[in-house]
Amino acid sequence: MGTEVSARIHHDQAEEARLLLKHVREEMQRIDNTYSPYKPNSELSRVNRLASQAPQKVSDEFYALIKKALWVYERSAGAFDITYASVGHLYNYRKAEAPTDDEIKALKPAIGSVGITLNDRHQSVYFSDERIKIDLGGLAKGYAVDSAITLLAKSGIKHASVSAGGDTRLLGDYVGRPWMVGIKNPRLVGASSNNWEEQQVMKIPMINEAISTSGDYERFFIDDDTRERVHHIIDPGTGKSTNEMMSVSVIGPEGFNTDPLSTALFVLGFEKGLELIEKIPGYEAIFIRRDGQVKYSSGLVNPE
Ligand code: ADP
Repeated sequence: MGTEVSARIHHDQAEEARLLLKHVREEMQRIDNTYSPYKPNSELSRVNRLASQAPQKVSDEFYALIKKALWVYERSAGAFDITYASVGHLYNYRKAEAPTDDEIKALKPAIGSVGITLNDRHQSVYFSDERIKIDLGGLAKGYAVDSAITLLAKSGIKHASVSAGGDTRLLGDYVGRPWMVGIKNPRLVGASSNNWEEQQVMKIPMINEAISTSGDYERFFIDDDTRERVHHIIDPGTGKSTNEMMSVSVIGPEGFNTDPLSTALFVLGFEKGLELIEKIPGYEAIFIRRDGQVKYSSGLVNPE
């Protein structure tokens, strides 16, 4: 998943705990191997290669991921769109490479999840344009942390925390008190002089919930000419990264929802993002804008 995964569980038998952690690791690897757009043999790569030629039958799980993506696409008026990848895959953040305006223009018509046709009876996926590519990076990690927590809960674990990059799902509490989950200061991340404590802009007490943060600091480079930050969250309307927000965190019961919602809210920006999150029961958001202002959805603010 191109990120660090960590899991903590409370167990009184070290050997059994180690075995469970091994199962968690295997489950994360399975999800990565299935949905990585960079592995030519992944199921996702197969769909990207073939779905414009003929409908491709996919697994129950793959189908559910696409359905969820389309649900968030509709709720966010297209801000969350897995076909962003039709242009998005031309960015290479490690090599500081971005597509030219002409390249974006040529591929932008392929962005739009209306170009994805699902067939519930055959559980198949079809793309109406051969330029369409999808990427599930905006929801696969949230799904993966949920899946790991389900596995642990089924094995009788009562207290656990599983993180993959910006997505964390908690099981129970931290044995008698809440888990304390940090939200990073988007401009201190990775600064070598800072320790973990100092890198957090706030810490939130949480029990049994999920939190996902989308930030402009996870994968980015600074464009030599414009001095603009070019990062990995793409506005499907422009094919380029957005610049209103530094980070958006979403808190709620499931990582499968918090992960795509944080990406959607990041693209929408504060006003439209707030409007969306207020309509989704049980989910709250923390917005950190480029100007440094921190804003909260209504469930996190004390009534006046
Ligand atoms: P991370 O935890 O890696 O920061 P995010 O939840 O912030 O992940 O989602 C960013 C990822 O979502 C990108 O790496 C990319 O795979 C995908 N993505 C980027 N822009 C969009 C978009 N507009 N709609 C859906 N997915 C997107």
